[in-house]
Amino acid sequence: MFNKELVKLFSQIETPFYYYDMGLFEKSLNNLKSTAVKYNYKVHYALKANANDKILETINNFGFGADCVSGNEIEKAIKIGFPSDKIVFAGVGKTDKEIEFAINSSIFGFNSESIEEIEIINEIAIKKQKTVPVFLRLNPDIDAVTHNYLTTGLNENKFGIPLSFLDDVLDKVQKLSNIKIIGLHFHIGSQITSFEPYINLCKKVNIIQENLYNKHGIKLKYINLGGGLGINYTNPESELISDFEKFFSIINENLHTRPEQEIHFELGRSVIGQTGSLISRVLYVKKSVNKQFAILDAGMTDLIRPALYGAHHKIENLSKQENLTDLIKYDIVGPVCESSDSFDIDIELPKTERGDIIALRSAGAYGEIMVSQYNLRNKPKTIYSDTILQHLKSESNN
Ligand SMILES: *Cc1c(COP(=O)(O)O)cnc(C)c1O
Repeated sequence: MFNKELVKLFSQIETPFYYYDMGLFEKSLNNLKSTAVKYNYKVHYALKANANDKILETINNFGFGADCVSGNEIEKAIKIGFPSDKIVFAGVGKTDKEIEFAINSSIFGFNSESIEEIEIINEIAIKKQKTVPVFLRLNPDIDAVTHNYLTTGLNENKFGIPLSFLDDVLDKVQKLSNIKIIGLHFHIGSQITSFEPYINLCKKVNIIQENLYNKHGIKLKYINLGGGLGINYTNPESELISDFEKFFSIINENLHTRPEQEIHFELGRSVIGQTGSLISRVLYVKKSVNKQFAILDAGMTDLIRPALYGAHHKIENLSKQENLTDLIKYDIVGPVCESSDSFDIDIELPKTERGDIIALRSAGAYGEIMVSQYNLRNKPKTIYSDTILQHLKSESNN
């Protein structure tokens, strides 16, 4: 991904910065698009993974929809040009103001997670004299086999309506004048690396659909299976583009659908994750008792995933790519005053020195979007592969 010329360019830019490989991104979007068309599946991109304008514009140009989890994300999606009838609004705690904004924007639908919320949506909808399309987000009680903080489809999680409540919720919703249930929504977690949980999900959805019809005579047009498809953080090069074909074919094999039904997905990480890297410099190599720390100018404020969920990003010394024999172990840490500000421990790298350029790979999703300014640190810059030369020119003119 990073040839010598590119690393030379990197060395002329102030670090840390996020670098996006737009060529890879377009290839990945092309692959997703053609695979989705093949199965007649509709994909909404989950803005919360990365909401940079240029990234969103590129996704919108491919005709995907938008999956939003806040009023501001809806506003952003509309500003970028996503058609409002391709925007869905999820979230376990929508405020009245956000609900009003979404209704005013005539979005495609609300993914609602509780009867308590649906009743409020109904009240607001009555005031506005509108009928609001709603997907019921169900909690299918399925183990996504991922990090505890990334699982959302278990009964102990705050997300979704428990399956055992469904009959009761349907009875109650039928009495609400301005709510129209148009589909079911599921999202069982994130960074799911095996297809087993999705097969289990399909089986549950099949049973739920049968019951809905047999018990209530309800046939719903839309089934939304959410996102969650994982990426390879350990060895990104082995799967730079997610295996959308395998993912969709497994859904296609296991999900029973009616001919008039439309199947939706909300993918985030698998769309943008491998496209981005956090590029940093080594400030110091600090020797300690039995250890060496490579202290970077990037920290948890720039990429919080390792501190937040013990996530591992592949770390590469781009300045020493020729020299992959004599490896030395380093703890790779940031400069922030928190012990959790560590990217990884005992990572083998070529002998590393002050000034070396370091890449933290697979940082396109849940990276830049989670940047904070704790310690009053600057936000990292954003560099795109197709405009890096212009960027350098404009920097040298300043
Ligand atoms: C976060 C989220 C997604 C996207 O998840 P990825 O793991 O990034 O694909 C999709 N739908 C909902 C409701 C979400 O909260």
